[in-house]
Amino acid sequence: MFNFKIESESRNTRARAGLLQTSHGRIKTPVFMPVGTLGTVKSLSPEELLDAGAQVILGNTYHLYLRPGCEVINLFHGLHKFMHWEKPILTDSGGFQIFSLAKLSKVTDEGVTFQSHIDGSSHALTPEKSIEIQICLGSDIVMCLDQCIEYSFDRDKTKDALDRTTCWAKKCKNIWTEKAQNKSALFGIVQGGVFKDLREISVAGLVEIDFSGYALGGLSVGEPKDIMLEIAESTLPMLPHLKPKYVMGVGTPEDLVDLVALGADMFDCVIPTRNARNGQMFTERGTINICNSRFKHDTAPVESGCACYTCRHYSRAYLRHLYMAKELLAYRLNTIHNIHYYMKLMEQMRSAIQKDEFEIFRKKFIEKRMS
Ligand SMILES: [Zn+2]
Repeated sequence: MFNFKIESESRNTRARAGLLQTSHGRIKTPVFMPVGTLGTVKSLSPEELLDAGAQVILGNTYHLYLRPGCEVINLFHGLHKFMHWEKPILTDSGGFQIFSLAKLSKVTDEGVTFQSHIDGSSHALTPEKSIEIQICLGSDIVMCLDQCIEYSFDRDKTKDALDRTTCWAKKCKNIWTEKAQNKSALFGIVQGGVFKDLREISVAGLVEIDFSGYALGGLSVGEPKDIMLEIAESTLPMLPHLKPKYVMGVGTPEDLVDLVALGADMFDCVIPTRNARNGQMFTERGTINICNSRFKHDTAPVESGCACYTCRHYSRAYLRHLYMAKELLAYRLNTIHNIHYYMKLMEQMRSAIQKDEFEIFRKKFIEKRMS
């Protein structure tokens, strides 16, 4: 069912435009996936997501496994029906959240044991169990369990995590092949931290196992931006050209444009949704904070010419008022605009790649954002 086709490639950068076919429909790339942690992209209905142009969303295995749990989601034969979202869903493996949220996590070659951040209950996640939970969620794109480590220059520690990730990747591939091969795709996750040679070893191990696509993990974990871009620049070309390349957990609009230029096809990040709830809104002419007093009497929309529901109907003055009064509608209207902005940015990049004008687009994008 799953396949990936590159439609156009930019001549002067590594940017490419493609099509991903999944069991729940096609995804045009490059693509940004809004994060739907607990079976909802915070504050938006699925209709609002579709209206904003979302093609695929991300669900978090760790969160959904703890709450509501697989026996509830099984009643609906997966997350799609449970949350009323008919388009594709990518699920993460749970690894990142265990290492960042759970208490007392302990890693062995078999897997990881941890205590829930909600009630302290004890759980064990193995590579096999992570895949089984993602199958229960009905995921279209399943991710292998990987061991994430924080930003570190400890080479031995990084190599250990990489080796364990490769070993877990084999186990994930085996169980996925047995149980879900025809219904979904399985992506391997490259580790290796800030060490280019370790990234190379990680890529070689994963490519030998052979996955439907590949992700760069262990980025956006506290490293400076230039290091993130440097690692992406050296690692992305090592991955098989004809497979989708996903940079996990990144980023700002500028990051997305930089990474598309380096050949990345897929992204997810909480920035557009989380920042919307903090009053930060993205526009072509820079990022604004809606609580700023200069918007108190501003009758213009957040972004003139923006076709989103929020900009078609509401002024900056009204959005500022809602935000200052902590009205619930503020979160929804701000999120609608930010998701729409991210989706439009991806569409503009795709169209520029198709016309082989990506470099011109990028130059104009940077000029406008700085203006
Ligand atoms: Zn808008």
